[in-house]
Amino acid sequence: MKIIAIGRNYAAHAKELNNPIPGKPVIFLKPDTAILKDNKPFYIPDFSNNIHFELEVILKISQEGKHIAEKFASKYYQEIGLGIDFTARDIQTEHKEKGLPWELAKAFDNSAAISSFVPKEEFSDLRNLDFELKINDQIRQQGNTSLMLFSYDYIIHFISKYITLKKGDLIFTGTPEGVGQVHTGDRLQGNLAGTELLNFEIK
Ligand code: MG
Repeated sequence: MKIIAIGRNYAAHAKELNNPIPGKPVIFLKPDTAILKDNKPFYIPDFSNNIHFELEVILKISQEGKHIAEKFASKYYQEIGLGIDFTARDIQTEHKEKGLPWELAKAFDNSAAISSFVPKEEFSDLRNLDFELKINDQIRQQGNTSLMLFSYDYIIHFISKYITLKKGDLIFTGTPEGVGQVHTGDRLQGNLAGTELLNFEIK
C-alpha cells in the first residue's frame, strides 16, 4: 500500500507557512514504513530539531481505480480516520529553499500516525466535519472539512489521473492552521466529530 498526502489544502495553513494558495493539489508520498498505528508512541528522531504535528482527515481507498471521475469518486472510499503527518520542518524548510524533494522531511519511519477507521455512513455530512488536536489537554488545531480547498472527490479524481489507487491506500487530506513542534512527554489526542480516535505519547 501507499500513502498519498495533500499539502496546503487549507488556506489558513498555507498562509501560516508563507506558502501560496495552490491552484491544484500539492501531492507527496510516504512509504508504508511510515505508518504508526494503534496509538503507539512516536519517538522523536535524532536527525531533526523541529518535528511538527499536522492533524489530518484520512481516506482509506476501498477499491482499485484509475482515471476516476469526480462524480464517482465517493465509491472509492468507505471509511475515514484521523492521522498526524509528522514533518521535520527544519529539513523541509532547507529542502524547499534549495528546491529539493521533501521525502527526508515527510516520509521517514513512523511519520504517518493513523487512527482506526470509521465507516463514512456514521457521519451525517463528510463535508462538514469538525476535527481537533489537543496536546496535553490544550486545543492546538481545530479544523472543519468544509474549509478544504480541494474536496475528497476532487483529490481522488486528480491523483488517479497520475497514480493508480489501490485498495488499502491512504490519502492524508491536508492540515488546518495551528501546526507546531512536538516535545518529549507530549500527549496528542485527536478527535473527529467529537469522537477521540488518536491518543498517544511523544517520546
Ligand atoms: Mg500535511
